[in-house]
Amino acid sequence: MAKTVALDDVTLFSKRLRPRRRPDRLVKVRGLPIPEEWKSSKTIQSWHVLQLGTYFILIEEEYGVRPPYGFVVFGNGARERVANTQELRGRVLKIASEIREARRRVEKEIRVSPQAWQCRVCGSRSKCRQSRA
Ligand code: SF4
Repeated sequence: MAKTVALDDVTLFSKRLRPRRRPDRLVKVRGLPIPEEWKSSKTIQSWHVLQLGTYFILIEEEYGVRPPYGFVVFGNGARERVANTQELRGRVLKIASEIREARRRVEKEIRVSPQAWQCRVCGSRSKCRQSRA
């Protein structure tokens, strides 16, 4: 029998990978934390698997143990077991790296060359480092 250790009240966070996630339920089975994600849909979707894959990595970082599997629990009570495979781990780490890279690009300042009058009437002028006004 699985013992509930968290019910939507534990936030998992990785300093290294950045994501912050809260599984719907965390149970303990033979000493291992097993995440559950509850969905209203009737079938498992690829992003459900990725969500569990993210929990696996965060649980490993937080508790120092690797959950061997997790569950997607559907509205009708059916459960789909998702294995914590190397392939899934690799996919999640690749996506996390792509997101971090995209964030870095977004944060990078874009060089602009406006006319001085455009800066004079611009609402962002007080915070802008490229203002010509
Ligand atoms: S003040 Fe900055 S944001 Fe506004 S127009 Fe000038 S360069 Fe662009």
